[in-house]
Amino acid sequence: MVQEIQAKSILVASKLPDTDYVINPYTGCSFGCSYCYASFMGRFVDKKVEDWGLYVYPKINLPEVLEKELIKIKDKSKSIFFSSVTDPYQGLEAKYKLTRSALELLLKYNWTGEIGILTKSQLVVRDIDLFKKFKNIEVGLTITSTDDAVSTFLEKSAPPASDRLNALEKLNKEGVHTYAFVGPLLPHFSATPEKIKNIFDALQKVGVKEIYMEHINLSPYIKKRLMGKIKGEDKKIIEKFYLAESKDYKRELENVISEILKDYKFKLRLNEVISHK
Ligand code: SF4
Repeated sequence: MVQEIQAKSILVASKLPDTDYVINPYTGCSFGCSYCYASFMGRFVDKKVEDWGLYVYPKINLPEVLEKELIKIKDKSKSIFFSSVTDPYQGLEAKYKLTRSALELLLKYNWTGEIGILTKSQLVVRDIDLFKKFKNIEVGLTITSTDDAVSTFLEKSAPPASDRLNALEKLNKEGVHTYAFVGPLLPHFSATPEKIKNIFDALQKVGVKEIYMEHINLSPYIKKRLMGKIKGEDKKIIEKFYLAESKDYKRELENVISEILKDYKFKLRLNEVISHK
C-alpha cells in the first residue's frame, strides 16, 4: 500500500549518538527486512509491527518543507543522516526522487556538515553526480551476507547482496567515500567465521575500507516478527537466535571477529561491534 502524505517537518533533531539531524523521506519501508528495528513506526500510522514492509507513505511535500527549514537554520555545519527509520533509496525513490530532492536542496543552501547515507539499494548510484558535489559525505551499503538467498529470505524485498556489493564498487570507483554496515550479524546465516570471512573478502574486493558491525537487536517486538519468519527452520538454527541474546554469545562472536579482522585492513568504526541493550 502506497499513500502519499504531507509531512509537517523533514529535518528532525536526531536521537542517534553521532548525528544532529535525520531525514526520513518515507514513513515505512517496502524492503520489509524481518529483523528491522524500525517496524515500531507502525504505531504512528495505525499499523501493526507485522505489517512492516507492506506500507509506505512518501512525504511528497518534502521539497517545500525542507526548503523552508533550510532557510531558517543558520548553522549549516551539523550532521545529517539519511535515514533512521526507512531506506532512502527503496524502490519508490526511483519515482518520487525525494531523497534526491533533499540532497539538491542541501547543496543549494550550502550545507557544510557531514551527510551520511545508509541504504540496501543499488539505486543509490543514481545520485553519484550529487555526492561528488558535497565536501563532506559518506555513503554506506548494508551487507548482511554474501549469499543472495539469505537476503531474499530475511530481507524480502531489498536488492540482493550482490547488487549492493556492485553499488559499493561503483561508488568507490567514482571516488565517493563509502563504508559498509555489516549488520545485523545473523546467527547461522552470517555470524560464523567462514561467512564473516566471505563478507570481508567481498568488501575488500569492491574497495571498502571502513566498516561498522552490529549484533542482532532482539528487542521483544523485533523477536516476535523475526521468529515468525524463521519458525519453519531447523530447531538448531532457531536455538542459535535465542542464544544470540546472551552476553557470552556476543563476547565469543566479538573474539572471533577481532581474530579475523587481523587479516584485513578494515577500519572498524567505533572500535567495537555495536550492541543493543
Ligand atoms: S531496509 Fe532498513 S529500514 Fe528498510 S526494512 Fe530493511 S532494515 Fe528496515
